[in-house]
Amino acid sequence: MTGISLHNLTKQFDDVTAVDSVSLDVTEGEFLVLVGPSGCGKSTTLRLCAGLESTTEGTVSISDRNVTAEPASERDVAMVFQNYALYPHMTARENMTFGLDAAAGFSGTEATERVEEAAAILDIEDLLDRKPSALSGGEQQRVAIGRALVRDPEVFLMDEPLSNLDAKLRVQMRAELAELHAELQTTTVYVTHDQVEAMTLGDRVAVMNDGRIEQVAPPQDLYDAPDTRFVAEFIGSPGMNTVDATLRRRGTVSEIVWGDNTVPLDASPESLGLTSGDRVVFGVRPEDLSADTDGDVRMEVTVTEPLGSTLLVRGTVGGHEMEVSIQPRSLVEVGDQITLGVDPDRLHLFDPE
Ligand code: ADP
Repeated sequence: MTGISLHNLTKQFDDVTAVDSVSLDVTEGEFLVLVGPSGCGKSTTLRLCAGLESTTEGTVSISDRNVTAEPASERDVAMVFQNYALYPHMTARENMTFGLDAAAGFSGTEATERVEEAAAILDIEDLLDRKPSALSGGEQQRVAIGRALVRDPEVFLMDEPLSNLDAKLRVQMRAELAELHAELQTTTVYVTHDQVEAMTLGDRVAVMNDGRIEQVAPPQDLYDAPDTRFVAEFIGSPGMNTVDATLRRRGTVSEIVWGDNTVPLDASPESLGLTSGDRVVFGVRPEDLSADTDGDVRMEVTVTEPLGSTLLVRGTVGGHEMEVSIQPRSLVEVGDQITLGVDPDRLHLFDPE
């Protein structure tokens, strides 16, 4: 069964197409992350799933039921927001219980039991009688997640829930969300602009750009085999180096050329459906380049950033910025000329835009 299914979903705000013909099937129990830069349409997509925005075109189905015309209250989804959205005058317990009343078909005992169960899972039993102002950011976010849990919905919709937390707490809560999902197996759609969060949490990750989904795949597949230049540059820490280049064949030798640089290509252009002289985008990850004495590509070093486990070296290659990640204690300094080796098995080619 499908947990949530979007078909040609489109949202127009005046002359802005915030969401542009998005189709996506999230399977029951899956944790699907929508990731992309600010303004690409992630939140709007999530709000369309929740029923907080009306669709311009397309449909939203939850558990194979078309809910496009249903109001938010009838969709059996629970949303967690970045700013927690707790009622300031209510205690944590009241915030979590709010709406679980007789009108919604809950007895008082049942509501109490559910809150206690969720509080135990989230380790907030001691905080239930406090108001939000007496809770830290992390505690408030636990209460907001608790409020979603007690509803036991068919789908959780989470909009950047960890963005207001400091770095350490964010990593801790990220692990807790992963554990929670492993335990509850509730279908989840999770929005973030942070590709590390996306890669660590998602069963699959949908990369959005300009209102559209560019690629949906498990995290490792996105890293290993990005479909487009955008996905290649967005996924990774840092993302893939990409340069506009030309394919060339000289006799039996095929190569990728930009400026004075050439990189040998194992395959012939024809075997890739291309011909000599075609424009391509050449991509290689910083961690797949090596600093060699006899490398194919010359780089002038402009910045070095020691990251502890690696040294990130930034420089220019034939007028293009590139980054290479090398051994942490390498003696490379700003102003040095180094040469880079490219492993032919680790290079990527993309269509030029
Ligand atoms: P993201 O969550 O990826 O940052 P959003 O979904 O919030 O992106 O926004 C997508 C686009 O839609 C942006 O250009 C944004 O300015 C626009 N947008 C979002 N909500 C509204 C609104 N209520 N009215 C007009 N434009 C909006």
